[in-house]
Amino acid sequence: MHLLIDDVQLWDGTGSPAQPKMSVEVRDGRIRWIGSASQWQGNRATVRVVDGRARTLIPGLMDCHVHYSSPGGPEWIARFTDPLPEISMRAIELAEASLRSGVTTARDVGAPQGVSIRLARTARTGEIRAPNIRAAGTWIAHRGTYVSFARQFGEADELRDAIRTEIEAGVDLIKVALAGWNEGARPKDAPDIPFDKKLLAVAVEEAHKAGFKIACHANDPTSCRIAAHAGVDSLEHGMFLEAADLAAMEKNKTYLVPTMSVWDAMLYYARAVDWPETRKKRAEDLRQGSRAAVVAAIKAGVRIALGTDAGGGAARHGRIAREAELMVECGMEPRDALIAATSSAASLIGEAERGTITEGKIADLVLLDANPLVNIGALRVIAAVFREGQRVA
Ligand SMILES: [Zn+2]
Repeated sequence: MHLLIDDVQLWDGTGSPAQPKMSVEVRDGRIRWIGSASQWQGNRATVRVVDGRARTLIPGLMDCHVHYSSPGGPEWIARFTDPLPEISMRAIELAEASLRSGVTTARDVGAPQGVSIRLARTARTGEIRAPNIRAAGTWIAHRGTYVSFARQFGEADELRDAIRTEIEAGVDLIKVALAGWNEGARPKDAPDIPFDKKLLAVAVEEAHKAGFKIACHANDPTSCRIAAHAGVDSLEHGMFLEAADLAAMEKNKTYLVPTMSVWDAMLYYARAVDWPETRKKRAEDLRQGSRAAVVAAIKAGVRIALGTDAGGGAARHGRIAREAELMVECGMEPRDALIAATSSAASLIGEAERGTITEGKIADLVLLDANPLVNIGALRVIAAVFREGQRVA
């Protein structure tokens, strides 16, 4: 397809100011030319012209934390153990919903039974409408903690084996989960978090040695402390982070993926579905802890990449705009929230050919009917989504 997105306000994702009256030419999936609309020399009769007037063009959005194997909602954990054919079919639909909301690249950071690996492969063939997906395979967690359908280990050797098994299965990154003991699982004298500093160091070494990035789930104070100092590539959720943790993350170039929309959604269901008081209280604590950590991380200069945790908590798919709005509520400039969702996310994921609108790069683009640099909520008014130069929404 040969396209000209004509006379548009262009924000290229690099952090430079938006430029008015620009045109972007796309051919064979790539950005071929960027310049002032009046300077374009081609023949309008042979290209498909997309009217960009009163619109803003931004790079395709990246959601660094999704789970397409669950739809989110009040019973999100139960949905991960639905029959495999149901999960697989649903994952295709949810990936499409995500794409329609402007997400052209997503990291699926945990799915049962290899669902995300197969989904990522199918997306690559172009047979389904889905973002470019980077899949983590299955969560790796210490036995007796976290969810029963994670890949579980007890000792360091078993942990190394688990990582190698995931790599052999075809993952794009490794996902580990630090968590406290499940009820009744804690052996006598065991530490609060059995996936401790030593074991996490083993995981980081094993993943990096094989050339893979490692994302680490942590959503309680002790786990966050361990993860912030471990040299993981990204700390997922990361509420309750303190100054020393943030300093370590800054030094280690560890990204924070805050997933704030998940706590908002949790609180919504806590009220709407009438959860018990203790669960409501927990949702409120997590929400506050998360916001405080993001406010502090912005001040400390920690790298931030956007992730919603759609499916992995109560948050639904296709609502990336909400996460960007929450970042702005926590003190980010709209421009920085957009960077977290584009070029910063691309650096975390390792997508050198995506994340900015640059000549020669892959043409993943979102056209908006309002200016997100003025009001981040403009991410909700999508005029068109292009993935690899093809219009997909
Ligand atoms: Zn998650």
